[in-house]
Amino acid sequence: KPEPLWLFADQLGRHIHSAPEHADRDIILIESTAALRRRGGHRQKAHLLLSGMRHLAAELGERAQLWQAEGYRDALVELGRPVVVHEPTSRAAHDFVHALVEEGLVAEVLPNPSFALSRDDFETWAGTASSFRMETFYREQRRRFDILMDGDRPAGGTWNYDHENRESPPKSETLGVDPPWWPTEDEIDEQVRADLDALEIEWSGADGPRLFAVTTDEANEALRTFIDQRLATFGRYEDAIMGADWTMSHSLLSVPLNLSLLDPLDVVHAAEDAARNGDVDLAAAEGFIRQIIGWREFIWHLYWHFGADYMTKNSLDAHVPLPDWFRDLDADAVTARCLSDALEGVRDRGWVHHIPRLMILGSHALQRNYDPAELTEWFRAHFVDGYEWVMPVNVIGMSQHADGGLMATKPYTSGGAYINKMSDHCRSCEYNPKKRVGDDACPFTAGYWAFTHRHREMLSANHRTARAVSTMNRLSDLDAVLEQEAHREVF
Ligand code: FAD
Repeated sequence: KPEPLWLFADQLGRHIHSAPEHADRDIILIESTAALRRRGGHRQKAHLLLSGMRHLAAELGERAQLWQAEGYRDALVELGRPVVVHEPTSRAAHDFVHALVEEGLVAEVLPNPSFALSRDDFETWAGTASSFRMETFYREQRRRFDILMDGDRPAGGTWNYDHENRESPPKSETLGVDPPWWPTEDEIDEQVRADLDALEIEWSGADGPRLFAVTTDEANEALRTFIDQRLATFGRYEDAIMGADWTMSHSLLSVPLNLSLLDPLDVVHAAEDAARNGDVDLAAAEGFIRQIIGWREFIWHLYWHFGADYMTKNSLDAHVPLPDWFRDLDADAVTARCLSDALEGVRDRGWVHHIPRLMILGSHALQRNYDPAELTEWFRAHFVDGYEWVMPVNVIGMSQHADGGLMATKPYTSGGAYINKMSDHCRSCEYNPKKRVGDDACPFTAGYWAFTHRHREMLSANHRTARAVSTMNRLSDLDAVLEQEAHREVF
């Protein structure tokens, strides 16, 4: 019999364990208590990982062995024969696996199976470039995998329909689209919950019903529901936030994608088919496909390409430690509706959609000069879809501009006016997005000008942000804003 295949908790999909090269292999899954303790973080994320591994073990029956051990090495030593693995998704796990090769516990490291583009092909594409733009990468991905292409032209004649995807939320309370697919918990989830209780680890966040797919069948159902019932409205309100509708038209597929339950090319083919069949507009399908073979793959490859040093980048010299209320997800300590709602989502579900991550949580941290490495770890720990590979480029790069612009042309932050336009939070907020000074001055509005002032040299040298500095220079109350924000403790 060939060596068994040891699958990590984020490699659970059928396209991996049922690949022809593994047909005769037994499957090894290992739950390491030491790893759970070391990573800590959101209770619901630990639940998803254990539930995913246990469901796969149950599905594979005698073919699978599920080990519960203190450490991974302990289990492999006890197993008594070398295993093969697919390359893991973090630098630390990569180093660990290669140490196990030296020790004879791992016989072979196969390529990572969870992304469409291989790491070698990315490096060939990247060549000697030092900074990268997603749009260039995305077009290359479309051509390479022949997605939404008519010959060598993009379907519909346009690569990117992003300009159609920036609508303010409607006046209604919710978007009114069909709900996403929700899982039904079973006895495996019940056991996971009891086992997590027994571990006595101090998790963050609230426990709650499982909200995401953890098996290939569940992930396929979630994908089908999204494509059939929600993709049509995906693009249009992608940048909007609605207080009473946390899912809006988002796919909620990041968890099953990051557990590798879905092959990313199957996901984009499903969206492309819906557009080609006339079930959804091209703009909606294109917007979604861009997230999957564009953004997701771009972030993955740059994690490796930028190297370990990237985590230490801090080009805006931000050193403020995360305040306790932020670190502890204490949404009740926050007055600003948008920030309180985002923190509440992280606490209660370990998930908020892209815009609260970028334009509320990330923007707040950027304005307040929070330490980018500490913030990266915060996102990794508290988000149910947070893994080492996905954090640095999203947080250090896109959200905090701490890499000096290696992957984004400008810092992402805004005043309350943008939040007021793109969300329904300001209506019920004690702060006034138009006010810069005073008890009801919006911390995002005032914080935006304080940020602009702090980085005025860098911002005025960039044609995309220079106007913010000239506007700031015309503010008659700038000194009062800066004085107020220097002492703000309540948000
Ligand atoms: P949708 O809006 O439906 O998008 C579809 C899919 O596109 C997502 O499921 C995801 O797989 C992919 N995608 C889109 N943008 C990105 C991106 N920038 N990076 C990676 N994948 C992307 N995504 C994570 O998977 N894990 C994280 O921990 C994470 N942290 C983030 C932190 C910050 C500060 C920011 C700005 C973004 C982060 N993202 C992260 C990206 C994005 O916000 C989430 O993938 C998305 O909100 C997940 O919800 P969804 O599945 O409904 O996504």
